[in-house]
Amino acid sequence: MAQVRHVLGISGGKDSAALALYLRDRHPGLDIEYYTSDTGRELDETYALIDRLESALGKQIKRIDPIKENHTNAPSNFDHFLELYGGYLPSSMARWCTKKLKLEPFEEYIGEEPTISYVGIRGDEDREGYISKKPNVQSIFPFRENIWSEDVTKKVLSNSNIEQLLDYYRELFPTEEFEMAKSTIAKRIAPDFTQKQKLETLLRLGIKEYNQAVFRYLKTTDYPVGQLHEFPLLDNEEVIKLADVFRILDESGVGAPGYYRQLKYEVEIDGEIKQGVYSRSRSGCFFCFYQQKIEWVWLLEQHPDLFAKAMSYEQEGYTWMEETLEALAQPERVAAIKKEHYLRTHREQRKSSGSWQDAILEAEGVGCASCFI
Ligand code: SF4
Repeated sequence: MAQVRHVLGISGGKDSAALALYLRDRHPGLDIEYYTSDTGRELDETYALIDRLESALGKQIKRIDPIKENHTNAPSNFDHFLELYGGYLPSSMARWCTKKLKLEPFEEYIGEEPTISYVGIRGDEDREGYISKKPNVQSIFPFRENIWSEDVTKKVLSNSNIEQLLDYYRELFPTEEFEMAKSTIAKRIAPDFTQKQKLETLLRLGIKEYNQAVFRYLKTTDYPVGQLHEFPLLDNEEVIKLADVFRILDESGVGAPGYYRQLKYEVEIDGEIKQGVYSRSRSGCFFCFYQQKIEWVWLLEQHPDLFAKAMSYEQEGYTWMEETLEALAQPERVAAIKKEHYLRTHREQRKSSGSWQDAILEAEGVGCASCFI
């Protein structure tokens, strides 16, 4: 039986850091390799978090090199590829940066060995992580109730697999319990009973039992988890949300990345000076095109050198967003962005708890799982 590797990508964000600490504490028997792929254009706070995490884990976080042949002498990995792309800045529509700096280096690092990749998407997020196209890589989501990736869920719950699913549950449940649950397990997915509803129903019958059923199914496939004798995460019933992530980071002594610190700004609205708070909501390159306008203002005011650097990339008509950074940096534009941010966040505060964690949840909605988890 092939040796199965366990890997965890450290993005420099809070969730992957918390996942590394969580798995170390909950499942010390898993021999996990940690890796990070550096764009060379992250904030200092991100690099500081990776260093603190490395000390806390007592294990090396391997820096994987995205550059195969360095013939550009560029000052960073990002600049190397930017030069190869002729100065064409990446965007959400043309995200060559993620491909070249995160995904390809990951796939090369993994090679052909069967590998389980742990991903820190939380229980309070409604998104799927990157699922490798390589058949030898399987993603697992330990923070969620459903730890399995969408491709696995789809196969396990497909109508053509119902007989097999019944066999697994027959083995897992005492006879009486199985007889009671039988019709639920056998219910076919249809327009009025979606895969999501079926999954929810089975999880309510028992998370551990569902995981055991999936494990039995995986044993009939080439998925890496199916090649294991046992998998400790089958017993995982805990769901980890945003507040838990911050708690894990605090309790470990690693702490949250410095850019989450809420800083005050002032803005004049209808002749009155108001005080709002801003921060950055995620890791990733300091010029990332996914950031909100208020985060660009945060960069301008808190890291003016990095803002100037981001501005220097905007050449020959290429810009990070629809307006240039030069335009965004004008005092009246900065004031307008702060005003819009202040009014929006205060409106939302009236509807929700208004905590800084709500602001993170809102800002996290878009973006790239490979860079920000
Ligand atoms: S953080 Fe943003 S700019 Fe950097 S690699 Fe990821 S998507 Fe691209």
